Amino acid sequence: MNYDHILIRYGEISTKGKNRKRFVDQLKANIKLVLHEFPALVYSSNRDRMYIRLQGENHEPILEKLENVFGIHSFSLALKTKNELEAIKNGALELMSEQYKPGDTFKISAKRADKTFPLLTNEINHAIGSHILHNTEDLKVDVHEPDIDLRVEVREEAAYLTCKDFQGAGGLPAGASGKAVLMLSGGIDSPVAGFLAMKRGIDVEAVHFFSPPYTSERARQKVMDLAKKLTSFSGQIKLHIVPFTEIQETIQKQVPESYNMTSTRRMMLKIADRIREKQGGLAIITGESLGQVASQTMESMFAINDVTSTPIIRPLITYDKTDIITIAKQIGTHDTSILPYEDCCTIFTPASPTTKPKLEKAQRFESFLDFEPLIDKAVEDTEIIVISPSEDKELKSLF
Ligand code: ATP
Ligand code: MG
Repeated sequence: MNYDHILIRYGEISTKGKNRKRFVDQLKANIKLVLHEFPALVYSSNRDRMYIRLQGENHEPILEKLENVFGIHSFSLALKTKNELEAIKNGALELMSEQYKPGDTFKISAKRADKTFPLLTNEINHAIGSHILHNTEDLKVDVHEPDIDLRVEVREEAAYLTCKDFQGAGGLPAGASGKAVLMLSGGIDSPVAGFLAMKRGIDVEAVHFFSPPYTSERARQKVMDLAKKLTSFSGQIKLHIVPFTEIQETIQKQVPESYNMTSTRRMMLKIADRIREKQGGLAIITGESLGQVASQTMESMFAINDVTSTPIIRPLITYDKTDIITIAKQIGTHDTSILPYEDCCTIFTPASPTTKPKLEKAQRFESFLDFEPLIDKAVEDTEIIVISPSEDKELKSLF
């Protein structure tokens, strides 16, 4: 097949008025990151469309990767020709000849974005249609339900011929809505929450609380694997791994058992908020879903949320577990999430955590000890790992 371009149609991006250029630039940057394994590709864009010139690259793996990029409504393989009738006719015949089976029906749908083009839309349809009918056998026109709908976009710089659309992921380009930190556990919910937040254009940095030796290297690897899965939607993710052992041990000694979980969550949220501030984020994302476990009752959320006034985005708050699992399977995080490695929370979870904690009690239990130096230390010793979609690009650094 002689397709030489991929044509990309924007999603909601097209309605964003003045911000449109910023959105298009962001989308282009994200696509380049996701397709970084194909350096030969050449990108161009205007207010309505983006074009990727294939330069001989196999389009199959590229199409597959584009399916995950937010901000794309649909995309198609395209053949680019000069915007002259003869060239368009020849291109259309070439595409059709390779595409049709005897007995198929077709239709030409021209779009005349170049208002100076000498033929009107119907005349273009007719000229190309006749050319195809004359030069093929056993192919008929059906304008209502054609087997092949050959679209011709006549633009000022060129014409683009396409036959088949692939559905894009929708949403807004990752990063177009600003930055937030995602509290990423090894469970099913938080990667899904991260995915949904990314879908609305949030640039996500992940924060994971890790309690060695109670939690193992495998549990840490699991979170890195989950973050890597999410990179197919964002291109790259910074993962902050917070050493949380000392704080958890201190809470265990200091706070009555039934409030352990509440205080643990309060400390986690405080630390996540510090990291958010350091990284210039504007919100915190969690995988909480109302009523799912003791820490996710309204009373618990009220007591935990008290430690910050930063907006907390809970994309899954109204979702049923079965719906969350369905998305986890679709985005490819489910099988990793259900691996049985211990999480820092489950290990310290008391047999019967209170489901209706009182804020004043949590505050009082914590007031007998100054947690601030421990929080400072945890933030200081946090390790940052930049996770890229390709296997070999993990840059490690401390901050
Ligand atoms: P998940 O499936 O995401 O682990 P969960 O149903 O197990 O969620 P909880 O354990 O109560 O629920 O966690 C609620 C949220 O708190 C998680 O979705 C996540 O955002 C955050 N969280 C829990 N544990 C950690 C951790 N070790 N590191 C970072 N965030 C965490
Ligand atoms: Mg969990």
